[in-house]
Amino acid sequence: MVGMNTADQLIASENAHIAHTYHPLEVVVATADGAWVTDVDGKRYLDCLAAYSAVNFGHGHPRLVAAAKAQLDRVTLTSRAFHNDQLGPFVEALAKLAGKDMVIPMNTGAEAVESGIKLARAWGYRVKGVPAGMANIVVADGNFHGRTTTIISFSDDPVAREGFGPFTPGFRSVPYGDAAALEAAIDDNTVAVLIEPIQGEAGIVVPPASYLPAVREITARLNVLFIADEIQSGLGRTGATFQCDNAGVVPDLYLLGKALGGGIVPVSAVVGNADILGVLGYGEHGSTFGGNPLAAAVAREVIALLSTGEYQERSRTLGARLHAALNALVGQGVLEVRGAGLWAGIDIDPSLATGREVCELLMVRGVLAKDTHGSTIRLAPPLVVSAEDLDWAVEQLAAVLQELRG
Ligand SMILES: *Cc1c(COP(=O)(O)O)cnc(C)c1O
Repeated sequence: MVGMNTADQLIASENAHIAHTYHPLEVVVATADGAWVTDVDGKRYLDCLAAYSAVNFGHGHPRLVAAAKAQLDRVTLTSRAFHNDQLGPFVEALAKLAGKDMVIPMNTGAEAVESGIKLARAWGYRVKGVPAGMANIVVADGNFHGRTTTIISFSDDPVAREGFGPFTPGFRSVPYGDAAALEAAIDDNTVAVLIEPIQGEAGIVVPPASYLPAVREITARLNVLFIADEIQSGLGRTGATFQCDNAGVVPDLYLLGKALGGGIVPVSAVVGNADILGVLGYGEHGSTFGGNPLAAAVAREVIALLSTGEYQERSRTLGARLHAALNALVGQGVLEVRGAGLWAGIDIDPSLATGREVCELLMVRGVLAKDTHGSTIRLAPPLVVSAEDLDWAVEQLAAVLQELRG
């Protein structure tokens, strides 16, 4: 133990044996409650990342933990070779929440995206009549949809992509937010447009207000599926159940993940109507863990939390408060603030500090946040955060900027 505390030892053993695909802040979390986490030395931090929105309802939400514990004692995994008594109620509730009628249950976000791609291709060949092997999908520059080989095939982030080819063909990327470019990229073999309603990993990039309605109009007119990847933007984060609600549009398919598992288990889904999801037949798609009873029980409780509108409302009102406070920092080391609801991308003046440096200074002050793309930091606290804690977090950011400006 000489010269090394527990946190240092834990970080050293992790670093010695884990592939170096992440560069975490030097905090070792031991426990968590609501919007707060506590490290191995007993220091508390306000969690302003919420596991990239997977913890929208806070750590250890009593109703989600109770649902998980009750199900742990009943049955946790059956595989889809048999029915389980949790799956039917889950998919029924999820379809209802989304205003659709069918669900493909999966586990991770990337699996939901992969499932959406397979489904769109199958729909294209079997319903739209695209010649075999010719389907294409239009995506947006700056996208982030996950880490599988097919998904990184249409990423334009060199770090995510380089060295991992050969890539899956069948995708075309156009500038995000540009409906005319999107329409121009669509041809007779286009089966889907796949976009994030707000680009999270790109830095909380919000498209022009006319964009999503234009995407809806174009895709409907040209008989192309509109797939909204709401894995990060959905389930309350932006002050609505889906960011598409804020834009007044209904996509053909929602891709959901992250918060759907309540921060307890990975749960993802493709949600749409039977005229699309119904094209898949027996044996054509699957997942050993997808739709497992533990996941279904937790996700059903997540949906119950969302069905009152309470969390969407918190996100809306607290989000307005957060954005007002952050906008007051523009010109004081902040160049721009973007976002919706309790989700903010903050561009720090790069001459002052990198996003990473700002996050490290915030950590010292007890606020955990995450940088993205150089000088942008993102705030996405759990929707259960109190107004006082939120104000305090922005005060810490103001203090960090003050410190940096000298
Ligand atoms: C996180 C994310 C994914 C991938 O989810 P995983 O669970 O990490 O596979 C896909 N799309 C968006 C928009 C995301 O934010």
